[in-house]
Amino acid sequence: MELHGIGVGRGIAAGPLKRMPEPLAEPADVARTADAEVEIAVAREALAAVGAWLRERGIAAGGEAKDVLDAQALMAADPTLAKDIAARITAGTTAERAVFDAFASFQKLLEGMGGYMGERATDLADVAQRVIARLRGVAAPGVPESDQPFILVAHDLAPADTALLDFTKVLGLITRDGGPTSHTAILARSKSIPAIVGVVGADALVENTVIVLDAGTNTVIVDASDTEVADALQRREAWLTASNAPITDGALKDGYLVPLLANLGSATEAAEAIALGAEGVGLFRTEFLFLDALLAPTVAHQEEQYTALLEAFPGKKVVVRALDAGADKPLSFLNDAHEENPALGLRGLRALRVNEHILRDQLTALVNAQNKTTADLWVMAPMVSDAEESDYFVELARELGINVAGVMAEVPSLALMAEQVMVNSDFVSIGTNDLTQYTMAADRMLGTVASYQDPWHPAVLRLIKQLGVAGALLDCPVGVCGEAAADANLAIVLVGLGATSLSMTPAAFADVRAALLTVTLPEAQALAAKALTGRTAAESRVLGTA
Ligand code: PEP
Ligand code: MG
Repeated sequence: MELHGIGVGRGIAAGPLKRMPEPLAEPADVARTADAEVEIAVAREALAAVGAWLRERGIAAGGEAKDVLDAQALMAADPTLAKDIAARITAGTTAERAVFDAFASFQKLLEGMGGYMGERATDLADVAQRVIARLRGVAAPGVPESDQPFILVAHDLAPADTALLDFTKVLGLITRDGGPTSHTAILARSKSIPAIVGVVGADALVENTVIVLDAGTNTVIVDASDTEVADALQRREAWLTASNAPITDGALKDGYLVPLLANLGSATEAAEAIALGAEGVGLFRTEFLFLDALLAPTVAHQEEQYTALLEAFPGKKVVVRALDAGADKPLSFLNDAHEENPALGLRGLRALRVNEHILRDQLTALVNAQNKTTADLWVMAPMVSDAEESDYFVELARELGINVAGVMAEVPSLALMAEQVMVNSDFVSIGTNDLTQYTMAADRMLGTVASYQDPWHPAVLRLIKQLGVAGALLDCPVGVCGEAAADANLAIVLVGLGATSLSMTPAAFADVRAALLTVTLPEAQALAAKALTGRTAAESRVLGTA
């Protein structure tokens, strides 16, 4: 049997699958039927077993992970919690509900304390889920454990899930939800892990089934035969060899330079990016540094992080994005309110503008880092709608001492107003993930509309062209930093439409570098012109591919 979805990159993987367990439903608030003493003993056993398991895992993991797991084991053994659970059971509730309520009230207490203690609240929630899973006799939620490499199947992966994934074990990713611009796709590219997202039928896949995942052909072979696995492994070798060509600066066949820049989420990723040939940074996602923070980070703390980043790129261009909070990347200190449609809500610059002190602190930290290092710092705002918003950001950044200030083109209205924006803005960087989401009115997190999430759509290409033309006219650099830049064929079209640099996950450099070297600038422009004549994304992809 074959399933289909949207391949990320060109990778191939074969192996048994493991499913990401579903989050547990909240235990029903019903009266206890079992004897109180029995129910208390059952709860104690579950707490002890989870504590022992956490300690064992800690010993096996070692390092910082051991500290975290030991601290969680202590939570499971906390006598106050055990007493609270027993009291709740005695008062008439079930063990599951008592554990849920006792941990929840303790969690609230920790959250109220803020700071380090507040951050431990999530760890406590994880312990509670493990204890309740044990009581129910089901697998604990969270990343599956395995001694053998496996292909992970999930609805979708949140950035927080991925922090716990052991990438030496994950051969590939399959998700039911998410399009090519979802965070699962971004993660897969950044780790060079083959992935197919938006797979219809992924929910029916059974644990341990052997599958072959071919991102280049968008297919998942279910219950693969030995021959199919052997064939896949051979093609995997060929793919790995092609990814290992010599590293050169990004350029077309005629020598036209197209700097290849890195999309990074932390300074620790810099060394690997440089090793793969990063000519600088085209997108530093600062919100990734603070996803777990309950309070806005201080100037000093941010300055330290940004300085570490800039020091890794002496003399090189580094584009840092101001905090992009909202939708799939919530920051509790910036936009806490419940919104029906968060992607259309108080996101990016909109959230920063109503919390201007947070924006000022971030810009100040960036100025301090800029003045201490030799990197060429460029700073940009996310989710900007028009020239008025662009001017607001650029002027504030300059007033605080930023040398180069620009905006992202992610909202169609900004692309439509490109010339006005570029009068003041030092540069524009096209975020094709959001530009596609908003142009096609298709949530980038939603598998059911994944087919709309295609940056090859001629409507998206037309907006990019408008930005490219305005950039050439007003001498304003126009980079691309969305996932589209990591699609080797589309990268050629983007240059043909006027992109002056391409920023992507460093794992995609090899593919894109090789593709750019196959065309001259006039050839890239001709392919772009052809792609613009398509009626659908699929047509444009065919027309725009050499
Ligand atoms: C984009 O929208 O294309 C982008 C680069 O930003 P993010 O993926 O972080 O929203
Ligand atoms: Mg974006």
